[in-house]
Amino acid sequence: MTHEVKTTCPYCGVGCGVIARVTDAGDVSVSGDPDHPANFGRLCSKGSALAETLGLEGRALDPIVQGKTTTWDEALDLVAGRFQETIAEYGPDSVAFYLSGQLLTEDYYVANKLMKGFIGSANIDTNSRLCMASSVAGHRRAFGSDTVPGTYEDLELADLVVLVGSNMGWCHPVLYQRLAAAKAKRPGMKVVVIDPRRTATSDLADLHLSIAPDGDVALFNELLLSLMEQRKLDEGYILGNTEGFEEAVAAARRMGLAHAAATGLSHEERQAFFRLFGQTEKVVTCYSQGVNQSSIGTDKVNAIINCHLATGRIGRPGMGPFSLTGQPNAMGGREVGGLANMLAAHMVIENPTHRERVKRFWNAPAMAEKPGLKAVDMFEAVADGRIKALWIMSTNPVVSMPDADRVKAAIEACPFVVVSDMQADTDTARLAHVLLPASGWGEKSGTVTNSERRISRQRPFLTPPGTARPDWWHMAQVAQRMGFSGFDYTSPAEIFAEHAALSGFENDGERDFDISAHAGIDQADYEALSPFQWPQRHGQSRTTTRFFAKGSFYHADRKARFIALETAPPCRTDKAFPLVLNTGRVRDHWHTMTRTGKSARLSAHLAEPFVEIHPRDAAGLGIAEADLVQVESAHGGAVIVRALLTDRQKPGRLFIPMHWTGETAARARIDSLVPAVTDALSGQPALKHVPVKARRYQAA
Ligand code: SF4
Repeated sequence: MTHEVKTTCPYCGVGCGVIARVTDAGDVSVSGDPDHPANFGRLCSKGSALAETLGLEGRALDPIVQGKTTTWDEALDLVAGRFQETIAEYGPDSVAFYLSGQLLTEDYYVANKLMKGFIGSANIDTNSRLCMASSVAGHRRAFGSDTVPGTYEDLELADLVVLVGSNMGWCHPVLYQRLAAAKAKRPGMKVVVIDPRRTATSDLADLHLSIAPDGDVALFNELLLSLMEQRKLDEGYILGNTEGFEEAVAAARRMGLAHAAATGLSHEERQAFFRLFGQTEKVVTCYSQGVNQSSIGTDKVNAIINCHLATGRIGRPGMGPFSLTGQPNAMGGREVGGLANMLAAHMVIENPTHRERVKRFWNAPAMAEKPGLKAVDMFEAVADGRIKALWIMSTNPVVSMPDADRVKAAIEACPFVVVSDMQADTDTARLAHVLLPASGWGEKSGTVTNSERRISRQRPFLTPPGTARPDWWHMAQVAQRMGFSGFDYTSPAEIFAEHAALSGFENDGERDFDISAHAGIDQADYEALSPFQWPQRHGQSRTTTRFFAKGSFYHADRKARFIALETAPPCRTDKAFPLVLNTGRVRDHWHTMTRTGKSARLSAHLAEPFVEIHPRDAAGLGIAEADLVQVESAHGGAVIVRALLTDRQKPGRLFIPMHWTGETAARARIDSLVPAVTDALSGQPALKHVPVKARRYQAA
């Protein structure tokens, strides 16, 4: 006998539906869910290999305290006691939670409730800060809310799709498949890829613009001026629904001739793009980590949004700016306040009305009153001793944070570190004083939200190994041991019902996120929940598929804001460190490979880390194909990786993938090269613009 379970892929933000089939003998196979509106049956290489990653190698099976296996009671009592003692002695801001876009919304909800409503600090942030915080900040500046205006279908309906800083072919593969299929059906449809590298995605492009690193503000500012010259503005939309257009244009004019140099593109290349954008009504502009992971990431997002507001191309079929989230539940985390500067249900911590509302709903004794530490600042506070107790859930910051060596040293020196993870063998889990074994994909139950605001269920089809338990249970148990009420959940359905009720609590339409139609959901309906897009407000049977076609933004005056931008790209290279390092993903691995590394098939695609280097640079440095290359950053780190000579990017630029860890390649922990430089508004690190030098490596 075989039984089938419908669930959702745990990798990227496309959020594909998966059917898992389990035989009586325990064999698992997976296929795409033909009924899921994100993928309609498709899966990419990572998704289709999910069954190969379910092995028990390295799994955390039981709680471990100081290296010794123990009982749940002993471990949970210890965590609760140490957090209580630390808070009593040093105050609530001496503790912190560092979460993950891998967590389910229910896990995130409990973590936020515990930290922001009961401990009384907002020191709770997430590795999603590393993938989409600039989009959140840009959305909030322009729209007054963190709202993605469109849907995946818009990419198929558009006549022009512009991909900025996105290797969608490898990083959001099923959405890329949908785009490629639409383009194949409609030969008139055009794709422009704006990316310093030539990638698998740019193979689809009618025009590839190999933009200089961080040249995006200059390019989209110039596009704004070009749209005026081409008389393609929607003046009615600008007048009726926006503020700040004149100031944005004046700022773009002041940038003036700096445009050309900052983009690194020829006049002909830029004009070709401007004409296409101007002359095409149905335009979708997708942006991802190449935009977000920058010290000027928020400004880049707003430069793009400015052009869509100016043309009124937003919220209509086939039109709009579209942020692609990296992780499976980056969006769900945002919905429950998983960022240090946000509250649950898209409420804002600096807003006293919002704080009071959440406090009343939770009956919270110690509501946080100010934003907490964002990811990079949080680990800085661990390093300088302000944070004395740290709980890390489902993520591996020793590998993935910028300034990774300093982060590792900070965690090693922190007086009390708890790690909840399904793996006991990550670089971070090995440093824990207390390791709590977590249920993994296929074992846990909850919801995730994809890049188009679609909430889907992850459902279990395997029994967790050992005594592993879900993350929400870890936190609810600790909260109860700390003496807090309101954490006696017995299932994720109860948590989801509470989250849905809070989203509608005193929400008279002033907030975009609202799923109060599900506030009273019971276990049976939760089990049967079909994928749906938010909002689904109480008493309304239909959702809002697209936002803002007729304005109605979420600033108090209901108007969007143009943002005046004169942001020059940072110049970080010098004679000593003349090359710009870009980092990113490969097709078949996910994050630090704790799951995809278990599949021989996935590992066979690219077996080891490498540095892409232009043949001209390589010749100048005496580097031949497949040589070992030492790459050093001005910041101080060094890695040794294999040379891959390619003209996929221009001379002066390098690329190294981000996945390999200290565990599998001791000298390829790429984020040890990356300084802790962040966007001032979003706190997102600049992971794609690192000044480095390179030389052929010779062992001593
Ligand atoms: Fe999973 Fe993303 Fe691939 Fe879909 S596209 S199967 S969500 S990794």
